Amino acid sequence: MSEHVYRFKQALAIWDHEYWRENAIDDIDAYCEFVREQTDLRLGLEVDFVPGREDRIANLIERCELDYVIGSVHFIGELAVDFELYDIWERARSAEDVWRRYFELLAGAARSGLFDILAHPDLVKIWGRARPLPDGDLRRYYEPAIEAIAESGVAVEVSTAGLRKPVGEIYPAPAFLEFAIEAGAAIALSSAPHGPEQIGYGYDRALELLDSLGVRELATLERRTRRLEPIGA
Ligand SMILES: [Zn+2]
Repeated sequence: MSEHVYRFKQALAIWDHEYWRENAIDDIDAYCEFVREQTDLRLGLEVDFVPGREDRIANLIERCELDYVIGSVHFIGELAVDFELYDIWERARSAEDVWRRYFELLAGAARSGLFDILAHPDLVKIWGRARPLPDGDLRRYYEPAIEAIAESGVAVEVSTAGLRKPVGEIYPAPAFLEFAIEAGAAIALSSAPHGPEQIGYGYDRALELLDSLGVRELATLERRTRRLEPIGA
């Protein structure tokens, strides 16, 4: 279980973006208590990487005694790559600029050491052809992030959520995943369900992709200690 951090009042101590203010309704301690005491689920949180706010993020993470922390990038400054209300694409200088800055932030998230897993690593592609796309081989954008992933040892999430979005693809793209595997990254699997019916959505396709790239183990976390479990065991 990994609720988004901005749903909690305490997240406003990290960032006071308008969208966060509107959504900061629940109490994070009540969430943690509920997951720990009323369910058998591991307790997690998806936390945006907000550069310059690393100490505040660390404080919130510590407070919760989590099993795992997923780090993510949705916003570049005040604008979002995946959210029409704060659409960066309308105001962006170019697709190149958005993609470059997105992956630099992802690299920052990896390097921060705050997170166990990097969420939906190429979320920037979410709109597919409905937004501008850079030309040519996209690996030039991935490189800084892959370097940071290799140095930090953070696990990389393979998420089927992208199959439900306009892009219609798993996050990350095979070229990113290949890069990450070569760099020695551990892989975590997620369907990022926003409702019970989405749990495990598209896992057949994700497992096929992982198998084709020779991935035989997945990262699991408990009390922020990572283990690799053989797939299908
Ligand atoms: Zn996310």
